[in-house]
Amino acid sequence: MGNERYEILETIGSGASGSVAKARDTLIGRTVALKTLLSNFTEAGSPEQFLREARLVGQLNHPSIVGLFDVGIDEQNLPYLVMEYVDGKTLAILLAGGPIPFQKACIWGADLAKALARAHEAGIIHGDVKPANILVTEDGRVKLGDFGIARLATQISCSGRVMGTPAYLSPEQIVGKPQDARSDLFALGILIYQMATGHRPFEGTSLGAVCAQILNATPAPPSRLNPALPPAFDRVVLRCLAKDPGKRYASGEDLARDLYPFARRTQQPPASPLRRMWAAQPLLRRAVWAAGVLAVLAGSYVPVSRSVHARLRIPPAPAPRVLLPKAPEDLFGYTKEEQAAEVVPPPARAPEATDASKRKAVHRSLSAARPRHAKTKIVVAAANDAQPGLPAAAPGSPLPEGGIAETRRAPLQIEIQARVPGATLAVYADHQLLFTTYLNTDGPETPLRIERKLSLGPHQFRVAIYRADKSLQAEKEGLAEIRGDTDNKLSIRIRRHSRFLLKRDAA
Ligand code: ADP
Ligand code: MG
Repeated sequence: MGNERYEILETIGSGASGSVAKARDTLIGRTVALKTLLSNFTEAGSPEQFLREARLVGQLNHPSIVGLFDVGIDEQNLPYLVMEYVDGKTLAILLAGGPIPFQKACIWGADLAKALARAHEAGIIHGDVKPANILVTEDGRVKLGDFGIARLATQISCSGRVMGTPAYLSPEQIVGKPQDARSDLFALGILIYQMATGHRPFEGTSLGAVCAQILNATPAPPSRLNPALPPAFDRVVLRCLAKDPGKRYASGEDLARDLYPFARRTQQPPASPLRRMWAAQPLLRRAVWAAGVLAVLAGSYVPVSRSVHARLRIPPAPAPRVLLPKAPEDLFGYTKEEQAAEVVPPPARAPEATDASKRKAVHRSLSAARPRHAKTKIVVAAANDAQPGLPAAAPGSPLPEGGIAETRRAPLQIEIQARVPGATLAVYADHQLLFTTYLNTDGPETPLRIERKLSLGPHQFRVAIYRADKSLQAEKEGLAEIRGDTDNKLSIRIRRHSRFLLKRDAA
């Protein structure tokens, strides 16, 4: 940055939106944090808009808000912010070490609620309340950063793309409805839940799965995960997490008023470890399982996720012919691929699907039933390029030739790329076998293409690989929706990794 006033001391971090440096304000003689945003104004809005927002945020004078001292636009036309330097750690780093002690979680939650109230009164929606945007000072106070202006560079717009983890998005943000102060309080509710329990209320193994949870799942009361928490606290948090903004707290002040008393109260003795586990475990397992079912989900996740409630009550796929230990559940986790995957929220009903809205494959991979020496990995991606906001068959649309029966079914293209010596692949939809195929080991690795007709709507797919002795080698399950107004494609890739190789790599 060409500005002579600020002398960069060291780089603190760099993220998707830009880089942050510890710097010295040579004019005033103090340490500051200097954030240079990467985006130029073409996609981030106009310079005027940036400065207008900066002026508003700069006037927010609150102990729990990172102070904004100065803004500008450098010679490369990149906007920069000069902020109060906060010596401490992000809340994300602290949360990685487990839950926050209850009273402290309540004080922090209430302080952040107050900070948001101040912003909301000034007409500013934060839009990105999450642990990574909260700094905790050395002496244990919280400060909300990335205020308002951050949205210029990092955040979703109603028709834009959701980047990164959607774990703190409100339902209205996901479906592209306007956000208001109560959207921030929803995100804060997630954060308070996580501080108190060590878990986020809406967990999932892919972006689509998390979005579906946020839209549809009723979170377990925090006290179910941590029985030491008072039931009154459950009510406060669950009110923040109401799907309908009208049922949430109307203001940060109201939320703070309900939270502060918990910080003053002496805590009940924690339940015995055994009771804790008993209370927490089945719930966690259920959450993980739900996430697994949701994993293979693309295209319109809104209608799909709606059906998930119903699906979850359906008994799981019948046992394979030979029972083997199932995939350990702790393998459900983000892969690099997933973190890169993006979910496109439903755009405001456009007559034509845009290029961006056409690309919406959500990837997930799961290493299943471990053989002795190698790991078989199944990667399934379901994709269709339908308009997510529209119903599968638009009401009133003309019936295609073939009549009613035909309108209810659509082809699914299945593409398989696999080379597993001597193995057989089976694909099921809703527990019914679609086909099996022997996976050739020699010959070119041309993908195998198979087409099957399926009824419209969501289906539970299961991909399984059996060894030559018919024992189950690996399997993967997920939901995907068959749509009548578009191409439906299911890509299956099977990879084998030698464990020895992996080990040597790690060494
Ligand atoms: P991004 O918007 O790219 O996610 P952040 O604004 O969250 O970037 O900041 C990236 C890093 O810089 C974080 O690790 C955070 O701890 C640090 N940081 C941001 N603002 C400040 C600040 N005012 N004082 C000290 N460190 C900061
Ligand atoms: Mg940030």
